[in-house]
Amino acid sequence: MYGDAVRREARRLLEGGATLSEASRRLGVSRSTLRDWRARPSRPRAGRCSLCDDAPLDRPAYAALLGYYLGDRCISRAARYFALRVSCDASYQQIVADIEQAIHAVRPGARTFRVSAPGAIVVQANWQHWPCLFPQHGPGRKHERPIVLEPWQRRVAEAHPGEFLRGLFHSDGSRVRNWTTQVVAGERKRYDYPRWQFTNVSADIRELCCWALDLVEIPRRQSNAKTISVSTRAGVARLDELIGLKR
Ligand SMILES: [Zn+2]
Repeated sequence: MYGDAVRREARRLLEGGATLSEASRRLGVSRSTLRDWRARPSRPRAGRCSLCDDAPLDRPAYAALLGYYLGDRCISRAARYFALRVSCDASYQQIVADIEQAIHAVRPGARTFRVSAPGAIVVQANWQHWPCLFPQHGPGRKHERPIVLEPWQRRVAEAHPGEFLRGLFHSDGSRVRNWTTQVVAGERKRYDYPRWQFTNVSADIRELCCWALDLVEIPRRQSNAKTISVSTRAGVARLDELIGLKR
């Protein structure tokens, strides 16, 4: 599969007079694929449109929203729009506000709704173009299909890894306190070891989390089948500083 950027570049080259062979050499795409694209130039994949391609994007806010989205959030289709729903723990009011701010920055003028569920608040915003911004939208559950970022999404997350990690950890992560006691000079003392954990059933999404942690050089390890842990003192401090505590 090729990303939209490659298709756009192919279209630009071919419309500019390049031959199939030239475009093929430049882009590393076979001539038959290019011929196929040329024959059906105006059939973008579901949900894509030139409007979103050309619109300015608040990239840090998008990186955060992408992180939130990749947690267990969803986009669903209504008759005339798509509903983006991000569900959060009702006790984390700042996170609810953070999600709303990210939505408003990515989609200026958006109306957000808060829908209450037991123990949770679902932030919802309706828009026709959510699938343009989150092409991972598709049938089936997220952990049962591959989640691959488009090159442009990867570039945005790469430029704003702290924001991306904030979305990931503030939705599917937790900051837990492990502790132990030790007898020092005859006195039992308690030691706290905070750690961050990110739990997601999708291996692809866990891998994206590891990728972003590597970008900011925070050591991490897989602590069980579904969980990534940041547990070194320096790593936890760095992540605290980058993403803030959950509240
Ligand atoms: Zn669009």
